[in-house]
Amino acid sequence: EMFGQLTSGLETAWNKLKGEEVLTKENILEPMKDIRRALLEADVSLPVVRRFVQSVSDQAVGTGLIRGVKPDQQLVKIVRDELVQLMGGEVSELVFAKSKPTVILLAGLQGVGKTTVSAKLALYLKKQGKSCMLIAGDVYRPAAIDQLVILGEQVGVPVYAAGNAIKPAEIAKQGLQEAKKKNVDVVIMDTAGRLQIDKTLMDELKDVKRVLNPTEVLLVVDAMTGQEAAALVTTFNVEIGITGAILTKLDGDSRGGAALSVKEVSGKPIKLVGRGERMEDLEPFYPDRMAGRVLGMGDVLSFVEKAQEVMQQEDAEDLQKKIMSAKFDFNDFLKQTRAVSRMGSMSRVIGMIPGMGKVTPAQIREAEKNTKLMESMIEVMTPEEREKPELLAESQVRRKRVAQDSGKTEQQVSQLVAQLFQMRVRMKNLMGVMEGGSLPSLSN
Ligand code: GDP
Repeated sequence: EMFGQLTSGLETAWNKLKGEEVLTKENILEPMKDIRRALLEADVSLPVVRRFVQSVSDQAVGTGLIRGVKPDQQLVKIVRDELVQLMGGEVSELVFAKSKPTVILLAGLQGVGKTTVSAKLALYLKKQGKSCMLIAGDVYRPAAIDQLVILGEQVGVPVYAAGNAIKPAEIAKQGLQEAKKKNVDVVIMDTAGRLQIDKTLMDELKDVKRVLNPTEVLLVVDAMTGQEAAALVTTFNVEIGITGAILTKLDGDSRGGAALSVKEVSGKPIKLVGRGERMEDLEPFYPDRMAGRVLGMGDVLSFVEKAQEVMQQEDAEDLQKKIMSAKFDFNDFLKQTRAVSRMGSMSRVIGMIPGMGKVTPAQIREAEKNTKLMESMIEVMTPEEREKPELLAESQVRRKRVAQDSGKTEQQVSQLVAQLFQMRVRMKNLMGVMEGGSLPSLSN
């Protein structure tokens, strides 16, 4: 699971504050050590960790008592805000040129996912209504050009390829001419990577950059490489001048060091993230949502966005409103689980569903079975019960009837009801309503 270790490391910190009345210089000492350890283990670079911990400590002691907010929640909030700042605060949008075409130059070491990203980015922009063209400039890795041609076909974007016998700068020149002839909105150039940085690579990139005069120069880095990724972004920026980074393989069990360090270390933002091998798996980098993930609260906003792709627009907006006001009921629950099934791979979104953040890949099939189980129970509820889950929480008779009609046990029904309320609380917490919430206990 993404950032799993970091998340549990931070939980240790909050847990030490349970039962405290207020944050003090003394009682935050141990939690701050936990936070420091968790960040270092996540491969965040040491100077970044030092600054982070210092800033959080200062704020924690400075905030004093806030009515209705427990100290552990207060610390979660401070850490959350600081994480958002660390990752750049706002989402950093792609910049488009005033006159066509916008040129995006992609750079990166071999194997980081550069060629894949080229095609993903073309599809991403195509979905926004922009016409694109790809230039195959990876003359170094065998088969990279063929790979891009195939991916281009797959996403329905033309690819300019001129073989690997001519210099990348010449390919860039020809490709750009072709793009102008085609009058495309955006042209994306894939370039050659190396196993590590060397002078040839940098010189090639400089030449290509001179020819293309790109609007965006994006360095593709692998999230699995942790703080090394941040160092690479710095080096490429100093050497050739870049506008941002694309972080790939965030779907793997990366520890978080790259996502957390890149902006702070290099001064350049992460603009996009790759979260899987499919062409659709590229999305903007949202610091606030990433912070939510780090804190293990799931990612409601990303989830709603994904759901939007498969649900009616109105439905999704309605769902978002309900999440905000914690009115999320069994109808929404059902819609959500069905949307998830329709999204195809449950595994891809499972980390985003509040309350399911801790599911390991091994349990994913189990979770898919659970979806069916939940559905069968919700289907036999009365419309009233679906809208007011409280009715089921309050009445054992009702839970018994649902159990009988769906052929499940009463315990399974109780679990489902409890899960819904748990989701409400988590959603509320995630939405920044830090006043906490308690689970209604099931009465008999
Ligand atoms: P390049 O040498 O930088 O052009 O790398 P490729 O584009 O050929 O990608 C190398 C490998 O990483 C391929 O097997 C890709 O499918 C895989 N890959 C790229 N991006 C992602 C990602 O976001 N998630 C996962 N899981 N795999 C990725």
